[in-house]
Amino acid sequence: MRLYNTLTRRLDELPAPPGPIRMYFCGPTVYARAHVGNAVPFVLGMWLRRFLRERGYEVTLVHNITDINDKIYAAAPGASAELAAQATEWYLADTGDLGLGMPDHLPKATESVPQIVRFIEELIAAGHAYPAEGDVYFRVASYPEYGQLSGQRPDQMEEEESETVALKEDRRDFALWKATKEGEDTSWESPWGPGRPGWHIECSVMAEDLLGPVFEIHGGGLDLVFPHHENELAQSRSLGHPFAELWMHNGLLRFTGEKMSKSVGNVTTIREALDEYGREALLLFFMTGQWRKPLDFSAETMAQAQAQVERLRNVFRVPDEPGGDWGALVAALEDDFNTPAALAVLNGWRDHELLRRGLDLFGLGSLAEDENAPPELVSLAERREAARAERDFAAADELRAEIEAAGWEVRDVADGFQLIPK
Ligand SMILES: [Zn+2]
Repeated sequence: MRLYNTLTRRLDELPAPPGPIRMYFCGPTVYARAHVGNAVPFVLGMWLRRFLRERGYEVTLVHNITDINDKIYAAAPGASAELAAQATEWYLADTGDLGLGMPDHLPKATESVPQIVRFIEELIAAGHAYPAEGDVYFRVASYPEYGQLSGQRPDQMEEEESETVALKEDRRDFALWKATKEGEDTSWESPWGPGRPGWHIECSVMAEDLLGPVFEIHGGGLDLVFPHHENELAQSRSLGHPFAELWMHNGLLRFTGEKMSKSVGNVTTIREALDEYGREALLLFFMTGQWRKPLDFSAETMAQAQAQVERLRNVFRVPDEPGGDWGALVAALEDDFNTPAALAVLNGWRDHELLRRGLDLFGLGSLAEDENAPPELVSLAERREAARAERDFAAADELRAEIEAAGWEVRDVADGFQLIPK
């Protein structure tokens, strides 16, 4: 199994099963209903966990909830904790409705503050961080490998809005702890006074807390490479912790097409996408893009995904044609988790059992299950079958018309009939 690694800039081989494969995928900052693009790292992590387990790996997936952040204070002055709690519930409900299950751990920053304080104390003791008037900063100059992940020159780094440049020894330094400022309605006690952790340190600590000082895969959107992941890596490696070995950065979702590009600033949420297109079409849409590349979300690409879902559903409505090679699907996914290639393999299969098993990896096994027709239609179909058996084709045709008028189609199959919504 090979995956592209941002850190080594090549395809790297995973250890042989059973691994373990310990994975940390950066989760959302919770201050609003999540954008449909936020579903990409969630879905990628969940699919990868399913596939690796299928291949015999022991997998642990951690996906954090950033519920302490500048954006939350800005979005709900005086009620940031309530907004964060509400938006966490939204996120869990919306991603839950994707039907892929949930990560093994969903740690929250608010529940990790004592561990974060201890980690910062270690960085200070080792000379990699320094307190300054209630803040604590990471000393970038103390870690010569800084920039190894992103290739970014540290002098290009911009400060986060809430950082006080004057307190830094070096403008490249970044905050690990931020003293409470006016208008911030939550704070935690620390050796440096009341405050709250910076965003980057939250992830270093939550990852190491649940997975240990070394783990196999770290994931997140391409927009997180710098500064977020560069800083995570610096915080952990400066203490001698190997931290993540393989870094996966997914391409970002772009809103394209006429309708979408007109609605600038009016982004589609996961909830809206689920309501408008359905869970299956949304998952299939995510499969159409290789995870490292940008993915175009538009009315057109979603209509294509819906049509593909129908084509796959229809395979289960025609007679089973055994045959097909499971190894072809595995080969596509073992080669940098190429879901478009996997989809092409699935589209070639007419073997019901094999196709259902393949679709199941992506949470699409439901395409094999037809909606249940209402009992009165089943009874009409049974009467039609009896009429046909008696060669009363006029009666059979009338019953078919009645079923069609109710929005269903009846198909004759080897062992009876199938009712399919039209
Ligand atoms: Zn993170």
